[in-house]
Order: sequence, then structure tokens, then C-alpha cells
Amino acid sequence: MTSAFPPPISEPDPSTFTCSSSMVGPCSGCQRSTHKYSSGGLPLCHWCMTTARENWGAGVRFTSTRTQAS
Ligand SMILES: [Zn+2]
Repeated sequence: MTSAFPPPISEPDPSTFTCSSSMVGPCSGCQRSTHKYSSGGLPLCHWCMTTARENWGAGVRFTSTRTQAS
């Protein structure tokens, strides 16, 4: 568990504040609005990405979200 608990899903990811609305899409993890498309976009919101990094380590790859359960 992390000390910084994510805000409600109704709250958009902070990354949406600095990108065009046309680049905003639902997070692949929690469906929160996030900067998903175009350069600099991520399939996961800030909160899911933080969790993913903690689970996967520093060498996180966006293409391997479905790794075998360990
Ligand atoms: Zn998310």
C-alpha cells in the first residue's frame, strides 16, 4: 500500500490539465480520464502507473501488462 491514495475515479488525471482534450482517453486500468493519446500520452493514469512501477520495478514496459502471476 502507498501513503498517497488515488482520488476518486471521477477525478481526471493531472496530466489532462496540460494536454489537449482530444488526447484524453480512459485509463486502461481504472477508466479515469487521462492523457492517453499522442506524444507523451500513457495508457495508464498517473495513479495506475505509480502502482505498476511499484509492482514491476524500474524497467516497466507498457506492452507487458499481462505478465504471469508470480
Ligand atoms: Zn488508472
